[in-house]
Amino acid sequence: MDKFKIEDKISYKSLFKPFGYINGEWINLTKDKSFEIYNPSNNEVIARMPEMGADETKYAIESANQAFDKWKRKTAKERCSILKKWYDLVLENIEDLSIIMTLENGKPLKESKAEIIYASSFIDWFSEEGKRTYGRSIPATQADKRIITIKQPVGVCALITPWNFPSAMITRKVAPAIAAGCTVIIKPAEQTPLSASALVYLAEKAGIPKGVINLLVANNPIPIGKELCDNVAIKKISFTGSTEVGKILIKDSANTVKRVSMELGGNAPLIVFNDADVDIAVKETLASKYRNSGQTCVCANRIFVQEGIYQKYSEALAKKVNSFNVGDGFEDNSDIGPLIDISGLKKVERHLEDAVSKGAKVLTGGKKSSLGGLYFEPTVLTDVKEHMILFKEETFGPLAPLFKFKDINEVVNMANNTNYGLAGYIFTKDLNIAWQVSEELQFGMVGINSGILSTEVAPFGGVKESGVGREGSIEGMDEYMEIKYLCFGNIM
Ligand code: NAP
Repeated sequence: MDKFKIEDKISYKSLFKPFGYINGEWINLTKDKSFEIYNPSNNEVIARMPEMGADETKYAIESANQAFDKWKRKTAKERCSILKKWYDLVLENIEDLSIIMTLENGKPLKESKAEIIYASSFIDWFSEEGKRTYGRSIPATQADKRIITIKQPVGVCALITPWNFPSAMITRKVAPAIAAGCTVIIKPAEQTPLSASALVYLAEKAGIPKGVINLLVANNPIPIGKELCDNVAIKKISFTGSTEVGKILIKDSANTVKRVSMELGGNAPLIVFNDADVDIAVKETLASKYRNSGQTCVCANRIFVQEGIYQKYSEALAKKVNSFNVGDGFEDNSDIGPLIDISGLKKVERHLEDAVSKGAKVLTGGKKSSLGGLYFEPTVLTDVKEHMILFKEETFGPLAPLFKFKDINEVVNMANNTNYGLAGYIFTKDLNIAWQVSEELQFGMVGINSGILSTEVAPFGGVKESGVGREGSIEGMDEYMEIKYLCFGNIM
């Protein structure tokens, strides 16, 4: 069999960069240690990358620190015009970037394209917003004083991202950081570093100066994470990933009192009330639950359906789920790709087996796909109860568990009965219910008759153990800026 080559699949060959990037230079396999990147659709090795560690991290921090002095002194307009060029280049290369993403993440090509558009939207938004980082003028309490505030970049930022949105989770952090005048070190997930390096390559082509963006790649994140947390030159850690790792990073960065932004796990409730429009509720549930094979932090993880509509909704949902095509992301009709790896697949199986052993019923799906490998049939479970594991844990797979409820109090209590607090969803035509439940839900974001809520213009983030801080929108810009208060005295 011919050896697989990514370059054969993409038009702009230079976008395939199986390297790290520090101080404006690509770091390749001259190192003795490397790691492999797999295509989850068929387990084929698609690339090999250098294993970077503490030494490379120190070098990247040094380089970002040096670059910071010049970058922060550029005008916002100068920085933002480079971002605009990066945005244009990302969209010009959407086909190739999507191919790279589907190869390493497995999601259907149409979803990869949608992610590249979503990823680019952060670059576009922050290229504008960077020009509007206004301070305030505050009426003083003494006649001879004048008070103003200015905003300044935080400094060198470490940005650690997951595999489920290999491009968008990077641009959602990098764009506001560099628009604000910060410099950055990106550490993408071990499964999806090629999407990251392709984006960095386009940033270089757009004219981002050396040292402003650095990229560390590795299979073992611990030495990199440790150095990023310990090093005093890093002023901020922005992390998207599991709550477990987020807690480690918060603890480790406490010694140097770094600013942190944490976008962590979710356990989203999706609540369908008796008066909901069933067609809308089903359509939006599908979008929330099955996108990226159910591997998103805002996926509906627990679906609560009021007893009067339970049967109608569950049958309508199962019918649609049944019509999904499971398959390789490059097949035109593919709706559900593979799970990212074997531990992801095993988690879905564990949740399913536990629920069924405790009385849940499989309405559709309920097993590994006949395609084998990492494919799992999209599944709907009924008769699901609170004592099952999937009530507590994020499943991160195409498994929709349907709980039955009687009234608002009961469902609000069940929905809030979790340590997580990222996204929640409500389906109802009643404005009173919509307001009341939105206010009662202990979640950072609530979709009302909408299963998709991510956009560059709104603040994305969670409460409780789902995180600290917000990304996107004007709030996302503030995460990379310090407020400085200037007090002018003895003004005559
Ligand atoms: P993860 O295991 O926490 O990994 C996330 C990133 O952290 C990866 O780059 C990983 O590197 C790195 N990492 C792991 N241990 C580290 C350490 N000790 N020090 C420094 N870095 C370390 O999460 P995941 O499995 O990739 O992603 C899934 C999770 O992300 C889910 O819980 C999901 O809900 C959450 N998520 C949240 C949001 C949000 O906005 N709230 C968005 C997307 C995903 P390696 O890949 O090398 O291990």
